[in-house]
Amino acid sequence: MRATVIYGAGDVRVEDAPDPKIAQPTDAVVRVVRSCICGSDLWPYGSMEATEHGHRIGHEFLGIVEDAGSAVSAVRTGDLVIAPFMYSDNTCQFCREGLQTSCEHGGVWGARGVDGAQGEIVRVPQAEGTLVKVPATQDDALLASLLTLSDVFSTGHHAAVKAGVNERTTVTVIGDGAVGLSAVLAAKRLGAERILLMGRHAVRTDLGREFGATDVIAERGDEGVEKLRELTSGAGTHTVLECVGTKPAIEMAAGTVRAGGTISRVGVPQYLEGPLGGPVFMRNVTITGGVAPARQYIEDLLPDVLDGKIQPGKVFDRTIDIEKVPSGYQAMADREALKVLIAF
Ligand SMILES: [Zn+2]
Repeated sequence: MRATVIYGAGDVRVEDAPDPKIAQPTDAVVRVVRSCICGSDLWPYGSMEATEHGHRIGHEFLGIVEDAGSAVSAVRTGDLVIAPFMYSDNTCQFCREGLQTSCEHGGVWGARGVDGAQGEIVRVPQAEGTLVKVPATQDDALLASLLTLSDVFSTGHHAAVKAGVNERTTVTVIGDGAVGLSAVLAAKRLGAERILLMGRHAVRTDLGREFGATDVIAERGDEGVEKLRELTSGAGTHTVLECVGTKPAIEMAAGTVRAGGTISRVGVPQYLEGPLGGPVFMRNVTITGGVAPARQYIEDLLPDVLDGKIQPGKVFDRTIDIEKVPSGYQAMADREALKVLIAF
C-alpha cells in the first residue's frame, strides 16, 4: 500500500509500505476512504529535524472495515467507520469519564508500529472502543463532514464545551484556520448569538460568517484586543476559544476575555510560558481546554451531520489523491489551501 512518511521539515514523501494485518484480537484493518492534512501536521512540516528513516503521519480518517480481530464485535467487514485522532479502549477509568485521549490502553496514529492515517490502509488498535460505525454513503459532501468528526470539528466543539458556551454567552474565536472556523460552527450550534471571529484571511472569515460569526476582527495583537473591546462595550466576551496555539494568540485571549470569563484553548501550544499572572488572576479568568477527546463527541455530533443541519466539511477547500500529499502540505503551509482532503 501507499503511505505518507515525514522525514523532516518540508520533506514529506509517499512511499510503499507493507499492507497492515490483524496483529492483536482487538485490532481491525480499515481501508481508508477519506483522510486529510491537519493544521497540527504543519508544525513538524515547518520545524522537524531531518531524520534518516522518517515516521508515518496523519491522524484523521474514515474508511471501510476490511478485517476485524476476534475480540471486535461492534464493527464488522464492510462497515463505514470514523476513527478519532487517537485510539482508545473506551472502557478504562479515563474513557468512562469521557477523556479517551488519556486512555490507559490508547495512543496516537503513526507511532510505535501503528499506521499513520495518510495512507491507503490502517491497522486500528483497540478497534472496539475506537471506531464509530456510520451509515454507508458515497456522498462527497457528507463524507467530508463525517471526516471532520475525526478531529477538526470535534476539536472546535471541545473548545466551546469546555468554555461553557450557551445561548447566554458571548464568544470570541481566535484563529480562522479549520479549527477556528469549526469552533464558530460549534458555538453557533450550542446557541451562542454573538460570535466574534479574529482572523485576517477574507476567504476564511467569509466561511466563518456562514458558520455563524457575527463580527470579524482582522486586526491582531493589541490592536485586535482594542477593536474587540470596542465592539463589546469595553468588557470583552464571556468565553474565548483560542484555536491557534501560539503565544500571541493566548495573549490575545487574555486580553479579550471578560472578567469572570473563560479561555478555552485547543490550539496545540507552541509556547512554554503565557499569561498566568496578575492580570488574569485579578479578573478571575478560568483557563481550560486541551486536547479534544473526539471519541467522546462523535456520537453526539453525528445526527446533526447526517441530517445536514451542520456542514463542517465546508472547511475542506481542496481535494487530492494520495500521491499529491506532499504538494498538499506545501499548499497548506503557503496558506493557499485552508484544509486539504485526501480522497482514495
Ligand atoms: Zn481507555
